[in-house]
Amino acid sequence: MGTLQDAFGRHIHYLRLSVTDRCNFRCVYCLPQGCAKGPESAPLSLEEIERLARGFARLGFWKVRLTGGEPTTRPDIAEITRSISDIPGIRRVGLTTNGYRLAGIASALCGAGLTSLNVSLDSLDPERFARLTGCSRLESIVAGVEAALAAGIPSVKVNVVLLQDLCDRELDQFLAWTRHLPLGIRFIELMQTGENGAFFRQHHLSAEWMRRMLQSRGWGRLAREESDGPAKYYGRSGHVGKVGLIAPYTAGFCETCNRVRVSSTGNLRLCLFGGEEIPLRHLLQSHTQEDDLVRLIESSIEAKPASHRLQQGHCEATTNLASIGG
Ligand code: SAM
Ligand code: SF4
Repeated sequence: MGTLQDAFGRHIHYLRLSVTDRCNFRCVYCLPQGCAKGPESAPLSLEEIERLARGFARLGFWKVRLTGGEPTTRPDIAEITRSISDIPGIRRVGLTTNGYRLAGIASALCGAGLTSLNVSLDSLDPERFARLTGCSRLESIVAGVEAALAAGIPSVKVNVVLLQDLCDRELDQFLAWTRHLPLGIRFIELMQTGENGAFFRQHHLSAEWMRRMLQSRGWGRLAREESDGPAKYYGRSGHVGKVGLIAPYTAGFCETCNRVRVSSTGNLRLCLFGGEEIPLRHLLQSHTQEDDLVRLIESSIEAKPASHRLQQGHCEATTNLASIGG
């Protein structure tokens, strides 16, 4: 079947699903105090996740990414991956992780059908990494990235949030990583959220700065590929990997949006920065509800907004990205 189109003619076929709102890191721009104490609002179960993904697959969604919070805090993350990759019509299953457990589970994830892995790693300097995340295990996360490549996960990317104190030496360390490994390293502009306004104003670094840095180091723009998503990629001869830039503040960024999100408790979000949530969980209790689920998703997508309006400072509805998965 064809894919769904929204009111602006965009083809929507990509589901980003948060499987938990819990996280074991304290990234300075996301959860500087760590995640809220107290019991977690029960996240979707394996069965609910499978029913949800089946509903989306019936509407032509062929790509699902698992995110969080930190998705690997769920002991059943490999089973979730397997259950989604087995659904007819789903061609890609991705995972975005802080990499904390990766070295130990990379090969199980690959065996479960994971096709794309994004590891968030903002610094290759152990002290700066610990300051940014509250985690002192940089070495094991780097080992996890290499284990994922060795396990044969088809696409492995590293996400680096651009921050003012990224120094030349560190930038060159990241670029050097792409010399011999087929990694995609993506530099992402920091986004303002409801909670990080003061941090954002002090630390935001534009993707344009990074583009000039790449240009001055001999990196050139690569032809666009279908799997590039919102990133613009650069390459350099002698490097097997590539470098991407994601610039959400650039005009026209939302024109190619192809995704919707579902929170860990089963609420549909049409835009990362859209406040409205459409509850789906009540339609995930039995497979006999699948037709109703499909109808609700289909009718909701018509209301997907044209743009996130971040440029106008419209960010209050999203307190932090851990709440919906980034
Ligand atoms: N815990 C997992 C991780 O860190 O990969 C998945 C969830 S995290 C919210 C997903 C991505 O959002 C990470 O790459 C993180 O760096 C990014 N992120 C979080 N807050 C952000 C912000 N304010 N601006 C830009 N990216 C952000
Ligand atoms: Fe946790 Fe990811 Fe947010 Fe860092 S960016 S605090 S790892 S959810």
